[in-house]
Amino acid sequence: MYRLANMARRLVSGLAELSPSCKTAARLLSEALDHKLTWRQQLGLHIHLVLCKWCSRYGKQIAFVHHAAHSHSDQVTTSVPQQLSSAAKQRIKEQLHSAIKES
Ligand SMILES: [Zn+2]
Repeated sequence: MYRLANMARRLVSGLAELSPSCKTAARLLSEALDHKLTWRQQLGLHIHLVLCKWCSRYGKQIAFVHHAAHSHSDQVTTSVPQQLSSAAKQRIKEQLHSAIKES
């Protein structure tokens, strides 16, 4: 029984050593979107994602953003004017002036 527990402990320890840090896992998640990782990177990342819910969640989020950006690439590359209308500028000025007067 002791021998089995010892083997299990060494197995878990070995798997944990393959698992990268959260910082490295985040980098690998990003890299995996652009190119295929080595088998060792894939294995380590997979182990990390099983153990770390934060990185797993982060991976799902960046995959969603990556997919959304690619599926709407025509809209992403089209520049949108980043100017407010004169009416909007005037409303902001009025709100700021009224906020200053109230304080
Ligand atoms: Zn992590």
